[in-house]
Amino acid sequence: MSREWVAIGTVLVLIGSNFFGLLYSILVLKTDLFKPFRIQTKAYQKAIFKKRMPLFLFNFAILISVAGFGSYLIYDSIDTTFIPIWMIGMQVLFAFIIDDFWFYFFHRWLHENKFMLKHIHSIHHRATTPFPLEYLYAHPLEWMLGMLGVVIAFALILVVMPINIYALWLFGMLRNLHEIHIHSDLELPFFSKIPFLSKTKHHDDHHARLTGNYASTFSWMDKLFKTTFKK
Ligand SMILES: [Zn+2]
Ligand SMILES: [Zn+2]
Repeated sequence: MSREWVAIGTVLVLIGSNFFGLLYSILVLKTDLFKPFRIQTKAYQKAIFKKRMPLFLFNFAILISVAGFGSYLIYDSIDTTFIPIWMIGMQVLFAFIIDDFWFYFFHRWLHENKFMLKHIHSIHHRATTPFPLEYLYAHPLEWMLGMLGVVIAFALILVVMPINIYALWLFGMLRNLHEIHIHSDLELPFFSKIPFLSKTKHHDDHHARLTGNYASTFSWMDKLFKTTFKK
């Protein structure tokens, strides 16, 4: 696989998962299909999708530029062959754990530092009743710093072995889909049964109350540091 295809593949994975997020958002906002599964009962703001669009597009452009150019630049450190599926799984799991570790402390700091909360993180918290694509709705500085966890995770993998391209793509896709889902305000039967992964309710409570539940992919960091939101 050439350097160009690594970059194109990375961009396509992100376009694909965000396209899913777009369709999911349209179904949530414009139809009653998922209404029985909603966590909050509050109605969505009028024309909310249109209001969110400029920042969605800006952050999406940052995402595909950083990921596309990033994978192009680190091509020499990427293994593009098929390796045993368990090794791909280990890289993906490791990346999720490190990324979540970074996100927990970064996100908690965004709340504990009053300047950051007021001027940066408050933008993401305009969504009190989130819909899927609002995972993209954050101050661009927060958006970019949030991605640092991914960089740290794959840099650490690189210390031990080359980054596998399929692990990178699978991680990118699953991370986006999970982020999209935890902003859906929906507790769907199947997704609520996946062990270890944090449920929508975990992050939805964070948006509704503005306190506790700082982790994203898993919820164990909140349990470990006693920051789980209590009613
Ligand atoms: Zn927050
Ligand atoms: Zn959020």
